[in-house]
Amino acid sequence: MLSEFDLIARYFTRPPRSGGPVTLGVGDDCALLMPPAGESLAVSTDMLVEGRHFFAGADAHALGHKALAVNLSDLAAMGARPLGFTLALALPAADPAWLEPFSRGLLALADANGIELIGGDTTRGPLNLCITVFGSVPPTQALRRDGARADDELWVSGTLGDARLALEALQGKLALAPDRLTTARPRLDCPQPRNALGIALRGIATAAIDVSDGLLGDLGHILERSSVGAVLDADALPFGAMLSLEPTERRRAFALNGGDDYELCFAAPVQGRQAVLAAAMQAGVTVTRIGRLTREHGVRVTDSGGAALSFDSHSFDHFATP
Ligand code: ADP
Ligand code: MG
Repeated sequence: MLSEFDLIARYFTRPPRSGGPVTLGVGDDCALLMPPAGESLAVSTDMLVEGRHFFAGADAHALGHKALAVNLSDLAAMGARPLGFTLALALPAADPAWLEPFSRGLLALADANGIELIGGDTTRGPLNLCITVFGSVPPTQALRRDGARADDELWVSGTLGDARLALEALQGKLALAPDRLTTARPRLDCPQPRNALGIALRGIATAAIDVSDGLLGDLGHILERSSVGAVLDADALPFGAMLSLEPTERRRAFALNGGDDYELCFAAPVQGRQAVLAAAMQAGVTVTRIGRLTREHGVRVTDSGGAALSFDSHSFDHFATP
């Protein structure tokens, strides 16, 4: 059996990259991180708990990816550039057959984003993954939730709903042909955080959030903090490729309330339309205009003809009473 220190050395320690923001990485009492002069440090933590956020026995490589991806997504939603991250890990056993693919999945996404694992904590216990990411952003350009204004247009990146479709198929709640599940499943297991888009939207978007709990629920946070309402066109939503093959009712429901999409929902003034499209092009991500913000509070969802549709926001709440 590996000791705690062998485990950290073998799976979570790599030679530091020179010239980056990390002055000192894994192995001392603290890591030392140097954000660019004049920028704010952006910090966010997300925890993944076995049986809560992922199935017991879930693929370790995918988990390593997802644990970091959901954290990077928060930096994307703030317009922050990723600098590094820490990993607090509770493990039932020091099992190389789990640790090896987990660290590969984790560090591959770190490499893809040019960031380093700079520290953490390791303990025995029920499987629990907690990552804290550090990023930086010029303070006046952070994409906060409270900057949206009435008449701004509302946008979303990528597509929505395929993660929920895959989840419900895996849970046996709906029937999905095996090839469709195979296509939809990476949206659930392997989300792609939109960091390049978040950074490109600095100075263009007035507010942003990442869609983790469902579009309506997450948009609700922007609306509340910005004291505005919204009208959404349900027929303008960018449905996931597999969800788009499903009946209208399910398409709308999963796109509006699906969860686990990790796309960016953001607001921008009408005059900023071309700038938004140029930012998306630069980031290599599609963006879709899905509605606009209103002075009247609350959310109205319509079809493309403007007729009102009725939808509740079922944003996920860990402490909701059933
Ligand atoms: P301390 O007793 O000072 O908290 P630890 O023995 O917990 O130190 O950790 C030793 C070093 O290994 C520290 O630099 C810590 O940040 C790092 N570390 C511990 N666990 C992890 C992990 N899962 N991933 C990356 N670094 C880790
Ligand atoms: Mg420690």
